[in-house]
Amino acid sequence: MFGLIGHSTSFESARQLARSLGFEDYAEGDLAMWCSAPPQLVERISLTSPTGKRIEGAYIDSVFVPEMLSRFKTAKRKVLNAMELAQKNGIDITALGGFTSIIFEDFKLLREQQVRATTLEWQRFTTGNTHTAWVICRQVEENAPRLGVDLRRARVAVVGATGDIGSAVCRWLSQRTGVAELLLVARRPQPLTDLQADLGGGRILSLEEALEEADVVVWVASLAQASTIDPQRLHRPCLMIDGGYPKNLDTRAAGEGIHVLKGGIVEFASDIGWQMMEAAEMANPQRQMFACFAEAMLLEFEGLHTNFSWGRNNITLEKMDLIGAASLRHGFRALGLESPAPIPSLTSA
Ligand code: NDP
Repeated sequence: MFGLIGHSTSFESARQLARSLGFEDYAEGDLAMWCSAPPQLVERISLTSPTGKRIEGAYIDSVFVPEMLSRFKTAKRKVLNAMELAQKNGIDITALGGFTSIIFEDFKLLREQQVRATTLEWQRFTTGNTHTAWVICRQVEENAPRLGVDLRRARVAVVGATGDIGSAVCRWLSQRTGVAELLLVARRPQPLTDLQADLGGGRILSLEEALEEADVVVWVASLAQASTIDPQRLHRPCLMIDGGYPKNLDTRAAGEGIHVLKGGIVEFASDIGWQMMEAAEMANPQRQMFACFAEAMLLEFEGLHTNFSWGRNNITLEKMDLIGAASLRHGFRALGLESPAPIPSLTSA
């Protein structure tokens, strides 16, 4: 059985979701009440791959909301309690969605294996980041040419380049795709210099500098708050892959020639018949989902009950190949631009 641990994008949307699911106490409760509320297994799911294999799973709401990020102990407890619930329900492989994998890493929850009477078995959990990175790379490769951007001549900025997903995306785009130049953006200088050495290339720039030069921008920074973007200073055409969580780039970077695509989102081949993605503002919530969730499904389809994506900066190109092939085999496809106007000219890079 596979599991998905998720959370709402804001306290307000969490209350709305609670109301729609019939959890009236939660819908009326204040943030303090939500802070002390236990996780909930809110939905059981089953889906069938085009190969004919059927799998069963469950969605667990951690009852965490981003407003709790600054409350260290609460955020930590939310993630550990949700993991305990997954394990107690006998779930073999569970994806840590949204902020939960970042909380796990940043708050060093590896040291907190004991949750009451339960010893968490790490092999039952995955961050889902390998599949997310593969999907984002595929989104770049499939959609840039549709805008007339030749990736072998293009500059691709990766915002959050030193992160788990960002560094994997950088490795793939430089070694597999062969983009002309990577523009590396993050806040801390040392990890950027280390990444540059590891890649054997790439230019370290500030966000503002990178945005002015990039034909493609991949956003994979763990930003709880949106930063401002001046659309006038963006390159045209510009493909923006909004891979972070929550996804809010379309409201911040709009204009002619700017094409924003929700990053790390996949669409399954048939309707799943679940409720959970309705609240995640997917265009087709019956089929679309976060790639990290899909990773747990893929591992279940493949019988790979292992913490496939774990720790930081461990994602290899070989693992991306493996999960990418499974993704295609089991009927997932990366979300693409709806119908971009064909632009015949190549990039100016
Ligand atoms: P990490 O914490 O490993 O990496 C975050 C990266 O962002 C680091 O490079 C960090 O470097 C950088 N960063 C953070 N703040 C800023 C800032 N203000 N300006 C520039 N860079 C910044 O995160 P992950 O790689 O695990 O996840 C990245 C994003 O992807 C998250 O938003 C996550 O929620 C999302 N995600 C999406 C999934 C999907 O299915 N679509 C699945 C999993 C995750 P530094 O600290 O030096 O700035």
